[in-house]
Amino acid sequence: MEGLPYFISVEEAIEITQGTPLPCIKESIPLDQAHGRILAEDLASKVDDPPFDNSSMDGFACVHDPEATYPLTLTVLGVVPAAKEATEFHVKHGQACRIMTGAPMPNGSNSILPIERCEVNEVDETVTLLEAPKPHFVRHQGENLRQGITALPKGSVLTPSRIGLCATMGYDFIPTIRPLKVAILSTGDELKLPGTPLEHGEIYESNSFGLAGLVRWLGHEPVRMNSVNDTMDALRQSLNAASQSCDLILTSGGVSMGEFDFVRKIMEEEGNLQFWRMKIRPGSPPLFGTWRGTPLFGLPGNPVSSHVVFRMLVAPYIRHSTQADGPVELRLKAKLCDRVKSTKDCVTLRRVTLHSTSEGLMAYQPRHQGSGNLESLASADGLTLLQPGQSGEVGSWVDVMVL
Ligand code: AMP
Ligand code: MG
Repeated sequence: MEGLPYFISVEEAIEITQGTPLPCIKESIPLDQAHGRILAEDLASKVDDPPFDNSSMDGFACVHDPEATYPLTLTVLGVVPAAKEATEFHVKHGQACRIMTGAPMPNGSNSILPIERCEVNEVDETVTLLEAPKPHFVRHQGENLRQGITALPKGSVLTPSRIGLCATMGYDFIPTIRPLKVAILSTGDELKLPGTPLEHGEIYESNSFGLAGLVRWLGHEPVRMNSVNDTMDALRQSLNAASQSCDLILTSGGVSMGEFDFVRKIMEEEGNLQFWRMKIRPGSPPLFGTWRGTPLFGLPGNPVSSHVVFRMLVAPYIRHSTQADGPVELRLKAKLCDRVKSTKDCVTLRRVTLHSTSEGLMAYQPRHQGSGNLESLASADGLTLLQPGQSGEVGSWVDVMVL
């Protein structure tokens, strides 16, 4: 323990963890399997978007003539439906082509009048334009994106719109980062799996389920292991198995000062411990280090604490390793409508509900804030980010991390 960074700030803790980044492996996968993945390389467009000049309206394509007066009657050459080549037409002054949204502009034409402003005369195959055709209804080749331009940089999280953009750019396979395997190991003699009756003194194990959701939220693969009893042997065995099969280990429980806090003890004696305790409330007991070379976070056992420490410490670490640009921790300003107790040396994360008003967001703290009260987290919209010593008086505007 001599010289070990102890009870450090969140920033210092994040910096230490980043000295042991996770290995990232690239894999190319079909586009429709890439939802939520992280892009492993810059993606440049293979084509111009749009690939050809086309109409943004159903209407008539013609030549814009600044001298003309309206209404103006033009001869209709034919129809350009969406898929049809427009090359068979050549539109001159006095002529027009019926055109559908997205169809290529016929040769010679440079403006569109939407169908609502046209009177079609079927009999003599003419159209009367009630006003001047508009050049801005033409979508020009490459106006959204030029071939060769990088639209999605490495690290982009592939959201639905970005997946669509990959297709627009011509990609059927996408270079992505293989999801990291994250072992989740709960510790504690008192833990029982939901679905089995509780004996006196037992509680349902909840941390591994919540943490698995957080790992998935970041686009990675949780590996929920059986919870382990509070003995050095059981813990050693599970940690060995986790380090052999996973890229990262998350434990919960057993990192406080108690006699049965074996995660801290085993990391001290047999692992490579890099820091212990962090200035955050709730959630001050976490530790970080490596076990047989695999990075390990020892998260607190209290359910709110383990969740909060994941958001504040583990998520930035994983995002940094994979260079992912998301999902972002959204931080907003909100006005406190209930008094929130701050601390003098820790960042204080109280669970608040948020209500949008014309004055801005209002934050309420309707629940008791015990770190074992998971319902207070499940019913909250955000966590206050009160800096050490910052007042949590009613009426003060504070930063809130959206849950
Ligand atoms: P510990 O840090 O192991 O002393 O645990 C702190 C508190 O969190 C105790 O009340 C534990 O019963 C509870 N706890 C620990 N692990 C879990 C878990 N996986 N699920 C739910 N509660 C837990
Ligand atoms: Mg315990």
